[in-house]
Amino acid sequence: MTSAPRRPLKSVLTYDRDDSTRRLSIFCNAESHVGRPWLIDSFYWGDVGGQVSPRWLRAGHYYRGGLPIADLPKSSRTVLVGNRVLSEDELLEDRADSGSRGRYDFKCHLCALSMSRREEVVHAAFSKLANENVAEVTLSLLAAILK
Ligand SMILES: [Zn+2]
Repeated sequence: MTSAPRRPLKSVLTYDRDDSTRRLSIFCNAESHVGRPWLIDSFYWGDVGGQVSPRWLRAGHYYRGGLPIADLPKSSRTVLVGNRVLSEDELLEDRADSGSRGRYDFKCHLCALSMSRREEVVHAAFSKLANENVAEVTLSLLAAILK
């Protein structure tokens, strides 16, 4: 008995439909779980109805091809003051002042591949990828870009 090998997803997916919103989604498709991609996080370029200057914002749902395809339970972003991570309560109290900085901890829960980078570095990479019409990228490729 033979079974056809599962075709791996490409490490980069570009827009395949008309979507004026710039989006960047991150997934893991490592060899150890080919065919079972782990959806890590999803972002879009926006301004929350003009409340903030345009920036990369977390989508809350995983987007593929311009459509939300899955819920994302937890943010990959933490806020630090110095080397201390602020708690959820401190964030709600808006203790994230000018001395704070954002950090992303992207992690695949199937193969434990992970990457931690400062927010501004990650956002700059998102912008470069989006300018090349990339809408979705593997964590391993993003890690290689940010090396
Ligand atoms: Zn993985």
